[in-house]
Amino acid sequence: MSCIFCKIVSGEIPSKKLYEDDKVLAFYDISPEAPVHFLVIPKEHIKSANEINEENASIISHIFVVINKLVKELNINETGYRIVNNCGKDGGQTVDHMHFHVLGQRDLKWPPG
Ligand code: AMP
Ligand code: ZN
Repeated sequence: MSCIFCKIVSGEIPSKKLYEDDKVLAFYDISPEAPVHFLVIPKEHIKSANEINEENASIISHIFVVINKLVKELNINETGYRIVNNCGKDGGQTVDHMHFHVLGQRDLKWPPG
């Protein structure tokens, strides 16, 4: 198994965990682009948003519920934040295990580059 996020799930690669349950893991991004920057991933290896289907789609709503809880804990729920999923080459995806970035605590620009 060569996927770095699967290795983070298994504990083989350390991470700064924010939240964990049987289905998802949230941890701080190693190279933050904002004062708050964490990632939420399914524990199951789903390569990208391209692989979401009727069978596995419930993970997406669960991830958003977890994000809702974490942004409140980190106190960025009122100032706002951005949830980002990069998919594939043109989307800028560099780790082929689907993940949602959550960025906050600064004035994020739009559109992204
Ligand atoms: P993406 O470019 O959307 O695929 O995002 C991958 C993200 O994973 C980048 O923001 C990286 O900084 C982050 N990342 C890569 N390796 C690690 C790691 N070992 N721990 C935490 N974040 C990581
Ligand atoms: Zn994986």
